[in-house]
Amino acid sequence: MPNAPVTSVRESIDQEQFLTILSREEAIARFEAALFPRVVVSEYRALADALGHPLAADIVAPIDVPPFDRSNVDGFAVRSADLASAGESAPVRVRLNGEVIACGTAPVQPVLTGTATSIATGGPVPRGADAVIMVEHTQPSGPHVIEVRRAASPGQFVSYAGSDIARGEMLLRAGTVVGSREIGILAACGIATVSVVRRPRVAVMSTGDELVQPGELLRPAAIYDTNGAIVTAAVKENGGDAVFVGAIGDDERLLEKEMRNALADSDMLVLSGGTSKGAGDVSHRIIARLGPPGIIAHGVALKPGKPLCLAVCDGKPIVILPGFPTSAMFTFHDIIVPILRRLAGLPPRADAQVTAKVPVRIASELGRTEFVMVSLVEADGRLIAYPGGKGSGAITSFAQADGFLRIDALADQMPSGTETAITLFTPHVRVPDLVIVGSHCTGLDIVTAPLARAGLSVRSISVGSLGGLAAAKRGECDLAPIHLFDEKTETYNTPFLAESLELMPGWRRMQGIVFRAGDKRFDGLSAEEAIRAALADPACIMVNRNQGAGTRILIDRLLGSARPDGYWNQPKSHNAVAAAVGQHRADWGVTIEPVAQAAELGFIPLAEEHYDFAVVTSRKQRPAVQAFFSALRSPESHAALANAGFRPATAEN
Ligand code: AMP
Ligand code: MG
Repeated sequence: MPNAPVTSVRESIDQEQFLTILSREEAIARFEAALFPRVVVSEYRALADALGHPLAADIVAPIDVPPFDRSNVDGFAVRSADLASAGESAPVRVRLNGEVIACGTAPVQPVLTGTATSIATGGPVPRGADAVIMVEHTQPSGPHVIEVRRAASPGQFVSYAGSDIARGEMLLRAGTVVGSREIGILAACGIATVSVVRRPRVAVMSTGDELVQPGELLRPAAIYDTNGAIVTAAVKENGGDAVFVGAIGDDERLLEKEMRNALADSDMLVLSGGTSKGAGDVSHRIIARLGPPGIIAHGVALKPGKPLCLAVCDGKPIVILPGFPTSAMFTFHDIIVPILRRLAGLPPRADAQVTAKVPVRIASELGRTEFVMVSLVEADGRLIAYPGGKGSGAITSFAQADGFLRIDALADQMPSGTETAITLFTPHVRVPDLVIVGSHCTGLDIVTAPLARAGLSVRSISVGSLGGLAAAKRGECDLAPIHLFDEKTETYNTPFLAESLELMPGWRRMQGIVFRAGDKRFDGLSAEEAIRAALADPACIMVNRNQGAGTRILIDRLLGSARPDGYWNQPKSHNAVAAAVGQHRADWGVTIEPVAQAAELGFIPLAEEHYDFAVVTSRKQRPAVQAFFSALRSPESHAALANAGFRPATAEN
């Protein structure tokens, strides 16, 4: 990737928020220059505990392996010259010495001319002998005598001392990561302890008054601390010894104390949150007091991840990752992992890459290197990369993605149809057996559960009904779940199909008015009465739905020309409507019954929404698609769907 000039990047960025935005490359270069070269800290580890650690020094073989000339077979140690004339018709008789050399037995008697000594595989070859003959090529011939019918070449079946490893030989180089093979080599040489690079101790800290640890009760307006867990795990994955300190509130004095404590006990400090220079974002100010040289980069032309802050205080790296978990992860993997691995003495991570086609245009911000997570599917033997569209606040985009693509800082888009490199999160591509692209519904999880149990992998990419339909028309998925209402024909889904598609009925979802149970303005009323009551009360706030949603059409019909308070709050999902009402941000909205049920809200039924599947005809016979149909029609799925508040469709409806 070309180096984006710092100045041009700087110009295109909001100057007020970040004074000096550096290009990704410049930020990395400055951080590395402030950290390296540095002295490698080593420690001794018992062989068994050295697994996964890089060696801190070269290891030279202290002994020969094998330590003596060793027999490779069960047989007899002989002098080869004695058997020079031996052949099938000319057996040579040799007398057996009185000892038997088992493994671990040091020979006492020499093998003199005309004699042989019985020897086991692994036994040391006695003085005088220069070859071993296999027991199969001999025959007893009276007491203490054998007949040999084959000549033996000198050295036959003997492994000479040092033939495997010679004393003084370079065994393993510094930097080699100890695996089971290396442990084998070291054990063979009798080495019980090795000097390895000491794992950098990395203190991990989250910041923010809103953070609650998993396992604790989620209080209003709080969120679970996600970064603490991911960063701790990612540090461990990359050779660090992570110590999670906890989540610290946005209190400058407390945070400074915690940062100083953590830094005193560790080699590196990784924080997240508090970099965006908003009110209460204080960690970057504290860094300035922790030691020279201080902040190296604050603001990097990366997306996601602009608020990244890199610092070095008295030789110790301090990193403040952006608060949004996805941004935190990207910047951590892209910028911090290479540095951490270097500090840990590990080689750069070998990321697998594949080439895939991007089916839609991706807009990108000029001046920032942008990373976009993608899900991979296969169409006609080619890989298609679907961008995950949930933005930097979405943690699911990480879990559902197979990898990511990169858009250059100097590009303002990636045109649809672009073939581009995808860096995989796993060593290999795993193309799913069944690809579902469209509108998501919890009912889908119910129906696909038996497929997963049968070992079929299902990838469900949520892009909404219209996005799914477009993907199905391009043949990029097997099924597109849709719930599209056609106002002209007043029917669902069928009018939207193309020639290459057919409709498989799914289930019905009752849409209705949700309100908090016990709200007298709605409780026990019909839909018309409820709307009348809501419109009559100026203090009553509604929550709407986005333009284009089937539910929005219903709402607009209910409201007519009325525009009550809350009309412009237009979230994109059924769950968001229920959350708004449940949290008193709104008093009513329209959502589906299962969602209302799960949120324990009151519900007045309005009309059923049809959630069906546009099936790509050419992919209908694929085993995973057939398995999906069977699951969809099974009595078990019907029961589970009904239990969750859905009404399975039959041929008539
Ligand atoms: P900040 O950089 O502190 O302004 O945070 C930006 C956004 O990320 C806010 O929505 C925070 O609530 C969120 N955030 C910050 N830290 C975490 C965390 N550890 N886990 C999950 N979200 C976080
Ligand atoms: Mg914060």
